[in-house]
Amino acid sequence: MIYLDNAASTQIHEDVLNSMLPYLKEQYGNASSIHRYGRMTRKAIEKARKQVALLINADPSEILFTSGGTESNNTVLRGIFMNNSCNHIVTSSIEHDSILEPCKQLEKNGLIVDYLPVDQFGTVDPSELKNNLSDNTCLVSIMFGNNEVGTIQKISEIAKICNERKIPFHSDAVQAVGKVTIDVKELGIDLLSISSHKLHGPKGIGALYIKNGIKMDPVILGGGQEHGLRSGTENVANIVGFGKACEIAKNNLDENMLYVKKLRDLLIDKILHEIPEVTLNGDPRFRLPTNAHFTFLGVNGEDLIIKLDEYGIAASTGSACSVNTQRASHVLQAMGFSHEQIAGSLRLTVGIFNDEKEIEQTVIFLKKIVQELRSFSPFKEKYSFVSKD
Ligand SMILES: *Cc1c(COP(=O)(O)O)cnc(C)c1O
Repeated sequence: MIYLDNAASTQIHEDVLNSMLPYLKEQYGNASSIHRYGRMTRKAIEKARKQVALLINADPSEILFTSGGTESNNTVLRGIFMNNSCNHIVTSSIEHDSILEPCKQLEKNGLIVDYLPVDQFGTVDPSELKNNLSDNTCLVSIMFGNNEVGTIQKISEIAKICNERKIPFHSDAVQAVGKVTIDVKELGIDLLSISSHKLHGPKGIGALYIKNGIKMDPVILGGGQEHGLRSGTENVANIVGFGKACEIAKNNLDENMLYVKKLRDLLIDKILHEIPEVTLNGDPRFRLPTNAHFTFLGVNGEDLIIKLDEYGIAASTGSACSVNTQRASHVLQAMGFSHEQIAGSLRLTVGIFNDEKEIEQTVIFLKKIVQELRSFSPFKEKYSFVSKD
């Protein structure tokens, strides 16, 4: 198998798994207990908090553990909304569903949400943001790197605009953390969402960075864990594994970034040169080093994925989440793509466990599959590049 769906989830790192095992066996104490079982797990949690903080240059006291990216995003939107008397949030039209869906729900509760448009590369114009801010704006939430097309936003420019107006700025950085350098202090980010399973950690765990001084209400109430912001007995094994994954990502960041970028560029280069009538989507320069996203005209992306799977290659049409709901990608729609362009889209996302041989093999199979699917296409008459025999 060749796994090229690293934006959907990643293989757990061996050292991460090993770091977790004691907490699934003998270290089963509740971290709130006073006895040594409790003290041991508490210590492990606080070590992990430091490891997560270090990866984004935050203070450990600014890290809140959650069940993942989805919960972190929900926590920000609801927590800020409930804490403030203001009624206006600005986000973008290409956010993950875990931002868009809570926004929709809060709109029913009186929140006004502006969804900023993007250009054909999937980029938000910071001056557009400026024009949409008002005295009532209590949050700006713009993602760091897009999960479908990989476009990286002008985060420091956006943060600067928000900082000047003293409006909290949140970024869903689930796709970017561990892949690109992120320094929340230098960038001026107030709130940041992270997910463990996108960076070779376990699923069901993540974090929200909350800059000291930012006020929000708790969404999950109970025993008062996580400074009262997220009650519930801590998932110690997952927290430990997540911390380890962050430490590994931090220690190998530059090297990994270069490695995946080289593989990704090879993939893009080969596909654009060896397969006719294909376009690269997203920003060619400002993109996640792991992401490649294409449109193959005259091909149905879902057929492509099924065929690729038969050849042992795991790929995706867009985000794993929207596949379940079977609707056209809202990201590609916002970028102004036609229905046909959306239908022919394919996302290939590389990771540190891929190698050059896999990339070459993928292009060989992909070329064959695209050719085959195009020859069956009901629209083949429309495409000059399809042989009509
Ligand atoms: C995967 C993803 C999420 C959701 O994270 P989970 O930990 O799977 O809940 C949120 N935002 C983006 C951009 C993602 O890619």
